[in-house]
Amino acid sequence: MVYTVILYDAVAGGAGHVRRMVTEEGEAFQQVLQRALAVVDGCSCDPSCYQCLRNYYNQKIHDQLSRQAASKFLHPWLGGMESLEEREEVSDFETEEANEEGSHE
Ligand SMILES: [Zn+2]
Repeated sequence: MVYTVILYDAVAGGAGHVRRMVTEEGEAFQQVLQRALAVVDGCSCDPSCYQCLRNYYNQKIHDQLSRQAASKFLHPWLGGMESLEEREEVSDFETEEANEEGSHE
């Protein structure tokens, strides 16, 4: 399954926060993910509260916000990630390797 994460600046005209998160090796985004995990893993509520996921702007979906679901979603993203281009290269390599193995049999 491929997830799409959409990051946006809530400030009118943008404050540049999202642009600063995009770095060559993804280290800034990793820091954001680690901080997000610390917030959801560091709370003791169930399913969510104003200390972790809830705020005034998402009050219409407060009943859908789950701290445990957010933690489960974020954990696999820690420790580095590959760009979509790298991911496609790996897929191509795996496909070629699978074809070679098939031709030997
Ligand atoms: Zn909470």
